[in-house]
Amino acid sequence: MRTVSIVGGGIGGLVLALELERHGIRSLIYEAAPRLQALGVGINVLPHASAVLAGLGLEEQLTDRAVLTREAAFYNRFGQHIFTEPAGRWAGHDHPQYSIHRGDLHSLLVDAVRRRCGSDVIVTNSRLDRVREVGDRVELRFVDDNGDPLDPVVAESVVGCDGIHSVIRKTLHPDEGPARYSGVMMWRGVAAHPGFLSGATMVRAGWLQPGKLVTYPIRTGLPDGLQLVNWVAEIEMPRRGERDWQRRGQLADFAGRFADWRFDWLDVPQLLGRSEQILEYPMIDQDPLPFWSRGRLTLLGDAAHPMVPRGSNGAGQAILDAEALARHLARTDDTAQAFAAYEDERRQVTAAVVRMNRAEPPDAILRTVYERSGDAPVRTMSDIVTEAEAQAITGRYLKVATTRSPAPDPSASLPGAGTRERNEEPQ
Ligand SMILES: Cc1cc2nc3c(=O)[nH]c(=O)nc-3n(C[C@H](O)[C@H](O)[C@H](O)COP(=O)(O)OP(=O)(O)OC[C@H]3O[C@@H](n4cnc5c(N)ncnc54)[C@H](O)[C@@H]3O)c2cc1C
Repeated sequence: MRTVSIVGGGIGGLVLALELERHGIRSLIYEAAPRLQALGVGINVLPHASAVLAGLGLEEQLTDRAVLTREAAFYNRFGQHIFTEPAGRWAGHDHPQYSIHRGDLHSLLVDAVRRRCGSDVIVTNSRLDRVREVGDRVELRFVDDNGDPLDPVVAESVVGCDGIHSVIRKTLHPDEGPARYSGVMMWRGVAAHPGFLSGATMVRAGWLQPGKLVTYPIRTGLPDGLQLVNWVAEIEMPRRGERDWQRRGQLADFAGRFADWRFDWLDVPQLLGRSEQILEYPMIDQDPLPFWSRGRLTLLGDAAHPMVPRGSNGAGQAILDAEALARHLARTDDTAQAFAAYEDERRQVTAAVVRMNRAEPPDAILRTVYERSGDAPVRTMSDIVTEAEAQAITGRYLKVATTRSPAPDPSASLPGAGTRERNEEPQ
């Protein structure tokens, strides 16, 4: 029985193992962390990716642990309402939008992998250090948490799900240019807090120069009727530090921007002040790659297409990749052919999301209001921006963000219509 080696037991790697199992394909996951822990803060899974998780039979568990997001609401930094639109099932989708603690999502997936694929399928304390293609096999060299080398592994095929600092991406693209800082620093945290608005509203408020806040509940049923509320403070400023999801931040470094954000629907200084732990992260992405696969090596999720977290789409795109890759592997025993078909399906559409997150993320309506109002309170919001304009912006984003595969190419069936060439990114 063939075995797919997955490097990285994050969201993408775990969903890939579950999808492969569904198709009767064995996998082994090599994860750098010595122990699997519930790390991170809030994360969103949009309906297109929820559909994949539902297909894996995880809907009930997700519904138990997550908040089913009811609406997305936009405000200026004076707490004045701009626009609200329904989300998930409330917007007519077949599946919900989940707002969930990344640790809850991760541990739910880990449990499912261990139950369905076997308790020994996830090999922890194995950080990939080097990859080498040897004939029709791939040699993987790992180190443990102390940096000591482990016995090499010879794999039939390898999927790099090793996230933003992917070793496999660097192996395939040793001369890739530097990552691109978007000019925005973000601080993230969670706090036990009373619900606000509908109790399941995702709020985006303000704009990046003075300060922007994204906040939404990710867990209900805390003592005293509280919810676990996730928040992200985003400020345009010079870059501080490296990309590290776990790097600690300080309230004092950014909270001043939000000191007077006391609205009748939310007291922002109080929310920020209740947080136990604050994380700091520079918003960085990388230009889309000209290819993801070589022979028996390919990339998936953040390793393939790191994007700025502006559209709630990082986890979702990794989940869609996993579904597509497993489907193509199930269709043929020729791994290289399956990798090429997977890349054909997913590389262009994820590149479009990377670019859309840069140019026109769903919160672009906030920039419009900021610029047209001169960053001042407004008398009547509809004089500044119409609902139709706001809907057009979020609608354009969703169209790109929820596309699963490219539109059929009429030339695809013509002789000589090569896959790699056809999909080459404009530079
Ligand atoms: C600790 C952590 C916390 C995060 N917190 C948040 C958050 O709060 N909100 C949010 O929106 N997103 C967060 N993310 C990112 C988010 O999970 C991803 O953007 C998204 O889910 C895509 O998933 P992925 O599987 O591609 O990458 P990830 O989920 O990042 O998974 C990558 C995995 O690869 C492992 N890995 C890395 N290098 C190696 C190596 N050399 N060898 C073996 N294994 C390796 C990592 O330990 C990790 O488990 C976090 C990621 C991590 C790793």
